[in-house]
Amino acid sequence: MIKVAVAGAAGRMGATVCAAVEGAPDMELVGRADPLLGVALAEVLEDAEVVVDFTQPDTALENALACVEAGVHVVIGTTGFDVAPLRTARTSAGLPQANVLIAPNFAIGAVLMMRFAAQAAEHMARAEIVELHHDAKLDAPSGTAKRTAELMAAARGGGEPVPIHSVRLPGLVAHQEVILGDIGQTLSIRHDTTGRESFMPGVLLAVRRVGDLQESLMVGLESLLF
Ligand code: NAP
Repeated sequence: MIKVAVAGAAGRMGATVCAAVEGAPDMELVGRADPLLGVALAEVLEDAEVVVDFTQPDTALENALACVEAGVHVVIGTTGFDVAPLRTARTSAGLPQANVLIAPNFAIGAVLMMRFAAQAAEHMARAEIVELHHDAKLDAPSGTAKRTAELMAAARGGGEPVPIHSVRLPGLVAHQEVILGDIGQTLSIRHDTTGRESFMPGVLLAVRRVGDLQESLMVGLESLLF
């Protein structure tokens, strides 16, 4: 059984992750950290082998550094923070090596959308990204949109950055359309998340695999899928 603690356990994503972990036959939920529950991450770290973080941009980095220092693997879904300090993070002496897996989107359809957009970017003259989310989302542009733009730029070998447009409205969950244009034609690649359960197979896969990563920090679920 993999012992899992969830940071942000009272949030929209965190609560869904807790239910998914409880329903997984090979996992045990050993801690729920969240200010709303009055439980700090430090209180649940000792019992955990893997922490799943769905918190806020200004706390995710601090949480991840605490996990690595404590020798606990961490799967991060929180978006909108700079991951650079994690590249040099080190586990405390005498503790097992801890790995970090960061994925801006755990939905398989979104991972495929990013992959197809990168492929299309090699062949179409221009592209723009429209990302649409619920109005409580803290960061803009979304982590998925930034990652898509990076992958498209890499596929093209650089050039002009892909513009991103952000829409925040009640009634939305998480949606993204990549529109590519060329002479006399456009191509639209769209992904819609209508329920947070869509992220759970990807989160559980990440929990199962984070201990065996080829590098101690990896970005993107695609590193586990393809
Ligand atoms: P949310 O409902 O606001 O949940 C965040 C929760 O984290 C809140 O309960 C918050 O408590 C708690 N929190 C804040 N600081 C904490 C800390 N230091 N330790 C533990 N818990 C802490 O947000 P959400 O909609 O679930 O989204 C969470 C993150 O996931 C966002 O960055 C979002 O963009 C991202 N996301 C990623 C994916 C993906 O596939 N990677 C999918 C969807 C969303 P307070 O409210 O008391 O501060």
